[in-house]
This record gives sequence, C-alpha cells and structure tokens, in this order.
Amino acid sequence: ESGTGPEAPQVPRYVRVNVLKTRVDDVVEFFKRQGFAFLGTAGSVEDLKSLSGKKFLLDLHLPELLVFPPQTDFHDNRLYTSGHIILQDKASCLPAFLLSPSAGSHVIDACAAPGNKTSHLAAILQNKGCIFAFDVDTKRLATMNTMLTRAGVTSFKLAQQDFLTVDPHDPKYSKVKYILLDPSCSGSGMVARLPLEEAAPSAERLQALSGFQRRILSHALRFPAVQRLVYSTCSVHREENEDVVHAVLQELGSAFRLVNAFPSWPCRGLAAFPGAECCLRASPADTLTQGFFVAVLERCGEEAAVPS
Ligand code: SAM
Repeated sequence: ESGTGPEAPQVPRYVRVNVLKTRVDDVVEFFKRQGFAFLGTAGSVEDLKSLSGKKFLLDLHLPELLVFPPQTDFHDNRLYTSGHIILQDKASCLPAFLLSPSAGSHVIDACAAPGNKTSHLAAILQNKGCIFAFDVDTKRLATMNTMLTRAGVTSFKLAQQDFLTVDPHDPKYSKVKYILLDPSCSGSGMVARLPLEEAAPSAERLQALSGFQRRILSHALRFPAVQRLVYSTCSVHREENEDVVHAVLQELGSAFRLVNAFPSWPCRGLAAFPGAECCLRASPADTLTQGFFVAVLERCGEEAAVPS
C-alpha cells in the first residue's frame, strides 16, 4: 500500500476548531498571540508538507481545520483542555463532514467511542436534533462522556449497547436519516501507533474483521428512514473497505447506491468493483493524513421511500 512505508512523510498536527464553543477567527487570533505565524489558507497538500517552526495554515479541504507542523503538542494548551479545539487527524474529520446531517435531524453514531466524530457531528448539527451514540466498551464510553461534556455537546444519547442488537424498527429511531458507521478495524492505517503485527494483520484476523464489518453495515442499512450513511475505517486493507461496501451493496440489490464522495479529493477507492472510485482513501504519502477509507451510501429514490 502507498503511504505506509518508512519513507512516508510525517503527518502534520491537525486541530479542529470546535464551533460549539468558539470561532475559527478567534482561534487563529489566539495562536497568533501565542507566537505562531498564520500563513492563511493552504493552496495545496504541498503547502501542508512544507510547514515548519511556529507557523500554521487553514486547511484547503476542511473549513474548520487548522494545520501545524508535525509533533506540535497542544495537549496542555488551554484551548484543548477547555474543549475549544479537538486534536483530530484530518482524515478522521471526513466522515462527519461528508455525512453532513441537516441541523435538527436525528443521527446514529453506531460505534462512537471515544467520540471525536460524535462531537464533530454535534458541531455540524449546532447541537440541535439528536445523536444516538452506541459503543460496547465501558472504558471508552467513560472517556467519551468526559470528552463530549468538555466539548459542550448536549444533543446526544449515549448507550452501552452492541449496535447489532439495536432494533431498527424501534419507534425511537423512526426519524434517523443519517448514520455514521466507524466500526472496529485492524487500524492498519495508523502505522505510527501500532506494533508491527497489527499493522500487518493475519488473513484470519482480516476475515473476522471484515465479516463483522459486513454484518454491522448491513444492519445499519435496515433502519427504515435512513437516507445517507457514511462507512469509514482507519484500515488500508481492501478486505475491510471496498470489499465490505461491495458485498453489502450486492446483498441489498438496488436499495442503496454509492455517492461520489468529495470529488475533488485526490485519492480514490481501489478499483475492486465498478464504481469503487466513488469511495475515498487517505494516506500519509497522498494526503498527508493517517491511512483511512470513507464510503458514502444513499438510499435510491429516497424521496419516495422516506417520509419527511
Ligand atoms: N468513531 C470513534 C471516534 O471517532 O472517536 C472511533 C470508533 S473505533 C474505530 C470503533 C469502536 O467500535 C470502538 O470503540 C469499539 O468499542 C466499538 N464497537 C465494536 N463493536 C461494536 C458493536 N458491535 N457495537 C457498538 N460498538 C462497537
């Protein structure tokens, strides 16, 4: 896979401005006062690559994302500890941005902890509407609660539940039009953080993961009012990405279709099936991010199928 070798460039420090608490302009001014030089909006990925010293940019793809040189550490920064900024890789900002739920709508975040994408969804929803967030892991859910409170997220219901056991026909979810599905994966895109054996998962592990991913994607698409779903992983393996999307689309016949996600994004899905280029990929070498995969699915003929 491209971008996973030792020659891969270092990924910048990405900072998502939490617009539930502050504004991009105010955060830019804050960092200027801390001695950082603001270079304006990046014109290309190359601009991000050449960042060094105490300089920063506004990202070229995501409007609320600031970019600092690799390894800039903000964990003790006042804006981070107060939830005004979220330290989130650029690729991990794509799912909520591309799901783009309308303000006031009902959304499911199926595998939500520790909640970076949930807080991003809440910011897009301007804390209006409702996010039903699920996860199975108690410890990660505790972290998530702290994190969402700090970020000022109020519009969510958090449940410790296996999403596969959530009943799509429960009236509670009858207005859910948007689902974000970011299930457990091999994590093979997060090369810097993983021991080698996890960066290169065995065939058995990949098969187990992809089986789970197919089941959970298929389950998510059974929610009767869902119009748009974003499926994402931080894996570089086709078995967990294009192959999962392809298998589930085939299983569902013509009920859902792939949307051409972010057409100007430079790195596309592997040609595993006709239309796979509608999906997008991210990698240290191509997009200066962690390795990532995103697919956007929409219900076919949704106007007729979904009551408004
Ligand atoms: N979306 C999260 C974020 O942006 O912060 C990261 C999610 S992480 C990739 C996958 C999560 O899925 C883990 O927290 C894991 O505990 C959870 N998970 C695994 N199986 C699940 C299931 N059957 N139902 C709900 N959550 C599950």
